Amino acid sequence: MKLRLLSALLLVAACGSAAPTPTQPATPVEVTPSDMTSRPPPEDPVPPGQKALSPGEEHLALCRALIAGAKAQQDLVIGQAGAARTIDATLVPFNELMRLLSNAGALASLMQSVHPDQGVRDAARACESEVSQYSSELSLNRPLYDAVAAVDVKAADATTQRFHMTSLRDMKRAGVTLDDAQRTRIAAIDEEMTALGQQIQQAIAEDTRYIEVTDAKRLAGMPEDWIALHKPDAQGVIKISTDYPDYIPFVTYAADDELRKQLYIKFRSRGDKTNEALFTKLFTLRAEKAKLLGFATWADYQSDDKMLRGGKAAQDFIDRITKLAKPRAKRDYAELLAQLKKTDKAAKSVGDWQKALLETQLKKEKYAVDSQVVRTYFPYEQTLAGLLDITSTLYDVKFAPVTNVVTWHSSVKVFDVTRGSTVLGRIYLDMHPRADKYKHAAQFTLLTGVTDVQRPEGVLVCNFPEGSSLMEHGDVVTMFHEFGHLMHHVLGGNQRWVSQSGVATEHDFVEAPSQMFEEWGWSHETLARFAKNAQGEVIPKQLVDAMNKSRGFGEGIAVVQQMLYAALALQYHQADPAKLDQLAVLKTLQAKYTPFAYVEGTKFHTSFGHLVGYSSMYYTYMWSKVIAADLLTPFKKAGLMSTATAHAYRDKVLAAGGTKPAADLVADFLGRPYNFKAFEKYLAGK
Ligand SMILES: [Zn+2]
Repeated sequence: MKLRLLSALLLVAACGSAAPTPTQPATPVEVTPSDMTSRPPPEDPVPPGQKALSPGEEHLALCRALIAGAKAQQDLVIGQAGAARTIDATLVPFNELMRLLSNAGALASLMQSVHPDQGVRDAARACESEVSQYSSELSLNRPLYDAVAAVDVKAADATTQRFHMTSLRDMKRAGVTLDDAQRTRIAAIDEEMTALGQQIQQAIAEDTRYIEVTDAKRLAGMPEDWIALHKPDAQGVIKISTDYPDYIPFVTYAADDELRKQLYIKFRSRGDKTNEALFTKLFTLRAEKAKLLGFATWADYQSDDKMLRGGKAAQDFIDRITKLAKPRAKRDYAELLAQLKKTDKAAKSVGDWQKALLETQLKKEKYAVDSQVVRTYFPYEQTLAGLLDITSTLYDVKFAPVTNVVTWHSSVKVFDVTRGSTVLGRIYLDMHPRADKYKHAAQFTLLTGVTDVQRPEGVLVCNFPEGSSLMEHGDVVTMFHEFGHLMHHVLGGNQRWVSQSGVATEHDFVEAPSQMFEEWGWSHETLARFAKNAQGEVIPKQLVDAMNKSRGFGEGIAVVQQMLYAALALQYHQADPAKLDQLAVLKTLQAKYTPFAYVEGTKFHTSFGHLVGYSSMYYTYMWSKVIAADLLTPFKKAGLMSTATAHAYRDKVLAAGGTKPAADLVADFLGRPYNFKAFEKYLAGK
């Protein structure tokens, strides 16, 4: 069953990689995988005496066919000595190379996260490392760079010029223009950094710590279902771990302040046996790479191709947001302290381990939002239908169910996104939990759209309840968030150049459309279109108002906490690694940014996994929020369901993909450059 999609894609891969002779420009293949998956699957013609491939083997074969196709395109780009360097002869096969590689990488990333067959998941992981190894070879390939650089694009259109500029820039950023010895060094650094990153993450993932409780009365405050899962062992000991399903409820509900503090300290010490030393090595390599590439620090290097450029600009941003959030954080803190004094009259300050409990108490007492009532308005199918209806109205698209395709799992729903008779792309909704599936919510790319070659295909991978089961409101907001990514991918997926398609925009802009779309999950105007309980009653306006009030509580503290993490990540990548005292910097910044004192015995940074992936750029979460708030301003004036506003947003921001710098797209839509005013207002609670 799961064979069919892969077989279908394999056929496409074979078509896509059918390399023309080197004298001809590569011709895009006029077959889309969507067409292929719509056809009945071919009979499996296994010649007698030969073993059929297992699904895993088939996946790996497909992956390697795509990489081989990419390599054939690489030969075309480089060509022979003295070959003509033109858009058709050079940039077109270069684009094709990127497309095939991106197809292989996207499929591998999706399949290892969703495929029910362990063999396929393993094959997908193997495929991913082959893709990433080939990608790093490519980015340091000097003849490839020289061929692309030799193309004259002065007379070409703006998007082609931009494609040319960013392709060269990305290879330069990887180190392609350095001399042989330096490139060899960079390749060694890259390899070592990957290994260090894996060791750090593994040390965090495998470091589970426990507190032990012998008196069950000390679990007071914990929900009954949680207590039922934590029975004493033969020695009468109840173990509580630092894993999320234990840690989060415990710091949120447990009445025993001492136990909460003990668990907090254990949680904030994970990774402390190995990770300081590993981080020192990692920061040292990053600093060396940045210097080789001509940057003063890794923070400058890492942000050089983003909206917010340079370590100094990042620090200014963090300081600006902190200044905006401080008054609100102060008010939040005073409320928490007053709440604490109800049970501890002598309390002079709130400890970091007390924050979650006190916030939960306050929200319940002050805002009276009963989440048990809220969820009755959000049965899953009805909510999904409402979301599709809203999206369809806003962007003038239809979602046509596709039933004649076989996917990796029978629960996956497939829709073509259409406008009139045009099919814009395809979406796959893999929305419910099952064994061995990705545990969070995310939008995955299946195909990145390239005009006349392949339509964009995107996949939502979530873990929501099924059928008429009720959703938490938080899940509803998550669904809107992920749909924001999905529509960006699909509506932005009609581009000539693959690296400008869909969500291929600056990394610090990617979360703006998704964070913006969350707002449609918070407004009575939009929720009233679909949020109804079993009696058919629409969600009351007062309830949505109360939900919004409660949403804002604690925001000041949350923002300064985020800014602490952002400043920490930034300063670790600006300091001289030989002189950096990681814990001392953490203590200093904790005092500077948040109202909560450093808790003796903790080493938060040794389990700060984002230092691996986001490195110096943790602040991008907040950056996207600032942009999202500004993008909302025209909608706040015209109404969230204003189709005129939505169409302008669709055309100027989403459909443009990465054809222009994100700041320009935002300015095109707003009619002015982005600014901080909307976010300022939001933080002020207006
Ligand atoms: Zn997101």
